[in-house]
Amino acid sequence: MARYKDAVCRLCRREGLKLYLKGERCYTDKCAVTKRNYAPGQHGTNRKKLSNYGMQLREKQKAKRFYGVLESQFRKYFEIADKQAGITGDNLLRILESRLDNVVYRLGFASSRPEARQLVVHGHFTVNGKKVDIPSYLVSVGDVIAVSEKSKASNKFKELSEAAKGTVPQWVSSDSEKLEGKVVSLATREDIDLPIAENLIIELYSK
Ligand code: SF4
Repeated sequence: MARYKDAVCRLCRREGLKLYLKGERCYTDKCAVTKRNYAPGQHGTNRKKLSNYGMQLREKQKAKRFYGVLESQFRKYFEIADKQAGITGDNLLRILESRLDNVVYRLGFASSRPEARQLVVHGHFTVNGKKVDIPSYLVSVGDVIAVSEKSKASNKFKELSEAAKGTVPQWVSSDSEKLEGKVVSLATREDIDLPIAENLIIELYSK
């Protein structure tokens, strides 16, 4: 399973905004974007004005990095979104939001999407009672995502039951006592709080 393995804070600095890839640290003064808000590398302080193509490319990179998706998978999502009825950009973001690792993060069971991904891979979650360890698994309306019975006993998830009491998006419901959540509806564009201009990504792929 391919994934990005370099220092993740560089990705935020490259995009010029917080991608929230490191959990708690992202909310502290230690955040690299707070400390050095310029692109990494020797010429990082000389940000050039981007061409139209450059802006489209950056927007795609930003979306991929928010959700931790590599190029081939991202393009597949675009192709699926393009075939669906409705606005392709909305469809694309809805698919990305439906990934199991994102849902685990949205339910508050992990402090970042990368952590959620790792927890899923390690088999800590079930969907409708069955273990699912594939982060890209796409959830459907009515699916119940739960911490597995075995994992509930671990300190990590005992502590989480308190943390998971935070707000969750309206398209999911959460039961922090049972350490489970349900997909009430699929996310709409209004539900997704990420600063992504999806129209630029669609323009890029439609060339
Ligand atoms: Fe990004 Fe978090 Fe690192 Fe800040 S601490 S640069 S938000 S990953």
